[in-house]
Amino acid sequence: MAANSEFAVAVLPGDGIGPEVMTPCLEILQAVQEQVGGFRLRFEQLEAGADLYRRTGDALPEETVERAGETDAILLGAMGLPGIRYPDGREIAPQVDLREIFGLFAGVRPVRIFAGTPTPLADERARGLDLVLIRESTEGMFAGRNDGRISDDAVAEESWRITRAASERLFDFAFALARRRKAEGHEGKVTCVDKANVFRAFAFFRRIFEERAAQHPDIEAESCHVDAAAMMLVKQPWVFDVLVTENMFGDILSDLGAGLMGGMGMAPSADIGSERAVFQPCHGTAPDIAGTGKANPTAMFLSAAMMLEWLGERHDLAASRQAGRRLACAVESALARLRTYEFGGRDGTDEVTRKVLEQLAQGPD
Ligand code: ATP
Repeated sequence: MAANSEFAVAVLPGDGIGPEVMTPCLEILQAVQEQVGGFRLRFEQLEAGADLYRRTGDALPEETVERAGETDAILLGAMGLPGIRYPDGREIAPQVDLREIFGLFAGVRPVRIFAGTPTPLADERARGLDLVLIRESTEGMFAGRNDGRISDDAVAEESWRITRAASERLFDFAFALARRRKAEGHEGKVTCVDKANVFRAFAFFRRIFEERAAQHPDIEAESCHVDAAAMMLVKQPWVFDVLVTENMFGDILSDLGAGLMGGMGMAPSADIGSERAVFQPCHGTAPDIAGTGKANPTAMFLSAAMMLEWLGERHDLAASRQAGRRLACAVESALARLRTYEFGGRDGTDEVTRKVLEQLAQGPD
């Protein structure tokens, strides 16, 4: 952090609706920092993504990585386009590379159902749902993603990896988060999601979880197979507080969580490492609605709020934490007064932005 509580923020808008949700997000961050005061954000625009790959043959230039690595936080829109792929057919996903380059081991995916927004869950107990899914983001089934083999057009093989070091730091992160949440009135429980009944790697993962749980006796610990967890997330998600899981399971379950929140446009995320962090919506580039003005920027705004809270915690700066909370509250109040396209309404990116700015201007509730 530079002098006078100035934070440098790397801004990577990316492709499709990425830039469409990033532009209003910067406007909103500008507004919230002016209102709260006590810190400043300096944005540094950087290039990466599928369109950049199409133009230059490089989806994530070294210069982008270097400059992003010198900033205090990284804000990312969305990257990848279905028609632009590497020669072997894989999609362009520099956001996955960034997780590996910066060791962003904990993918934090809050699942919250706000008072005024629709959810596919009919049960009243779902109203006010507030859980957090933590997805390991550097290994698991994604570890071998560049080494998959297809032999003689007959057999496809992939490999995956779970390490003690990554699992220990992941579980410690989950317990620390559950402890902070417990102080705010949540249950104080961590559920490890695995498939320990079938795979040795997951039996190993669960054993490490139980070892780490013993180091955090103030927090309840339990384990659950991924298939059962998927069912419970639909039937009774309120039984969970913090869930922690492997990379691919987390990828799938976080979209399930976004579904519970009503749609991809609602779900924020943070990929956190020991030194760096990337904040981005869970959604992809949504090529089907790009350019129509229908993208819901909520997930982007809530990711930015998570960034402010993380910066505040990391640098012990109350103003930044307060700005993060104020932004999240303004988004929640705005949503109660809107019906986005995603929810079958007619409020697009501009309307959501305008309403959030209006709520911010009214000051804290
Ligand atoms: P990826 O593989 O990169 O995660 P994806 O193909 O799974 O991407 P998304 O791009 O997230 O998918 O889109 C999934 C669906 O959700 C699409 O119908 C898309 O229009 C919708 N969607 C995604 N983001 C938003 C948003 N911010 N607002 C409204 N709808 C969205």
